[in-house]
Amino acid sequence: MAFGFFINPGSSGHILILVKQLYIMIEDQIFCPACGTNTEHALIKTGQENLVRCEICGIVHSVQKERERLVTLKAIVNRDELSEPYIIKLPANDELHVGDELLIDDASKDVVMTQITSLETDRRVNSAIAEAVKTIWARATDEVPLKVSVYRNGQTHPLKIIVQGDEVFEVGEVKQIKGFKFGIVKIKLRGEGFADVAEAKDIVRIWGREI
Ligand SMILES: [Zn+2]
Repeated sequence: MAFGFFINPGSSGHILILVKQLYIMIEDQIFCPACGTNTEHALIKTGQENLVRCEICGIVHSVQKERERLVTLKAIVNRDELSEPYIIKLPANDELHVGDELLIDDASKDVVMTQITSLETDRRVNSAIAEAVKTIWARATDEVPLKVSVYRNGQTHPLKIIVQGDEVFEVGEVKQIKGFKFGIVKIKLRGEGFADVAEAKDIVRIWGREI
């Protein structure tokens, strides 16, 4: 059945989200605001406002809004003994675990790949939903995702790779990524504008032309 809810939209990519959707479709487990936990639900009405009924307490509520609601969190990222605060937005019901990889994407700073080292609600916990978390403690893994668009045979192929944050990319340079051999033609920066040479952590996207 087309029961397209997912209560824990993953932060680590499409595959995870698909798995979780499948999980929900099988289990019909949805977060119940009255019970305060994931419970069995029956679908009452589909649409923009999907209505569901908790099989435990009987409350009828919407899940559409719930899954899209974001919370703003403080993340303290540790790198080389130095701590730096970031502000990030995560889906309210995203489940966070110590040890998970977490992409910190603060619009006003560089993007940084981290591993969660501690979660603070009212106390330190090993896992919690984002909404309950006050501060995320993480350590930089110094890897960043890099988006690359390669132009080949009249089509643009979007690629995404994980590289070291300080890896330097330069216009004119020849790269080989996932079966594409290309020359870099343009580098767009996270801040503003374009550059001829930049470190991966400062780059939004690279465009390349196959050679
Ligand atoms: Zn309930």
